[in-house]
Amino acid sequence: MRKTVTELADGRELVYYDPDGDEVRDATDPRPPEPAAVRPELRLDPVLGDWVTVAAHRQGRPYRPPAGDCPLCPSRGGRSTEIPAADYHVVVFENRFPSLSTQGAGRAPDSPSPLFRTEPGTGRCEVVCFTSDHDASFADLSESRAALVLDAWIDRTTELAALPGVRQVYCFENRGAEIGVTLPHPHGQIYAYPFLTPRTGKMIARAAEYRARTGHNLAEDLLAAERLDRRRLVLTGTHWTAFVPFAARWPYEVHLYPHRRVPDLPALGPAERAELPSIYLELLRRFDRLFDTPADGEDAADGNGTDDGADGGGGPTPSAPTPYIAAWHQAPRHGGGELSLHLELFTIRRAANKFKFLAGVESGQDAFVNDVLPEAAARRLREVAS
Ligand SMILES: [Zn+2]
Repeated sequence: MRKTVTELADGRELVYYDPDGDEVRDATDPRPPEPAAVRPELRLDPVLGDWVTVAAHRQGRPYRPPAGDCPLCPSRGGRSTEIPAADYHVVVFENRFPSLSTQGAGRAPDSPSPLFRTEPGTGRCEVVCFTSDHDASFADLSESRAALVLDAWIDRTTELAALPGVRQVYCFENRGAEIGVTLPHPHGQIYAYPFLTPRTGKMIARAAEYRARTGHNLAEDLLAAERLDRRRLVLTGTHWTAFVPFAARWPYEVHLYPHRRVPDLPALGPAERAELPSIYLELLRRFDRLFDTPADGEDAADGNGTDDGADGGGGPTPSAPTPYIAAWHQAPRHGGGELSLHLELFTIRRAANKFKFLAGVESGQDAFVNDVLPEAAARRLREVAS
């Protein structure tokens, strides 16, 4: 992998990741720098104890621009985008509308009450473009391109974790308008947080409690238990296993763990790194096939509503690409020794034409109701194997 670090006209960093070769990355950003009004702040929720990031400047970011105005396509034909080069393999740059920023992070006015605690929203938000092909998706990438994305995730995790004040690094992809994606160009994001996210904090507490009670590591025992049970297994490689979690929250949810517990992506060994692209691509491709044909009696009934009745039933029901969230959980810089690197991949779609929305019980109480039996979801995810 070859890495070339450059700077955009407004000072944001942009990094090209290329396969080994002699590609010269010397294109400059001709756009006049726009003054950045980036002042994210953190506010501590006094009731729950969770940090909330307030980033009012993000209201002005592009919302589903036409393909001709895509800011993530390469700069071609006289149109300048976020990426100055006329083509690229994988590119990472600082988000123009970040939720967290190393520059000029804001802070709410001091309050006389200790209940109203704020901190500057110091951190970094990056965009990762997986390919210059506007119409592709991650599942369309070759294994070598997926490996280059993995190289970029590993490099960014190492670089961002070393920044002052950063406590954890989170690589993720939101895919699909139904998830709320504002730019359809295939891309993911990386957040470098100055605090522990509520979910990571809860995972650390659970793992510590389990260690104190049993003397064992929770992630290791969980992986062993799922591999022994087998009912929820989705895919097993030499170094990785994917399963639907016992208490899955989402209609289709898969967790992917390396067999050897490591804290983060940079800690993966050569063999684990070599196997991951094929496994990750296979999981994404299975997600895209989930709703192509009715899964079973129950889902078939769902799929044969008024929209699909005209097909006569029984045949494949091609649907729009499955919206998903792919979330890489990595241990924080300090205090996450019991955590295991893993991927949580899930979709909000529960049938070809039905979605799971976070409504009263989930949004109001953080208490999930799942409409799909996890064992049935795993069966379906095995059925749609390549
Ligand atoms: Zn594009």
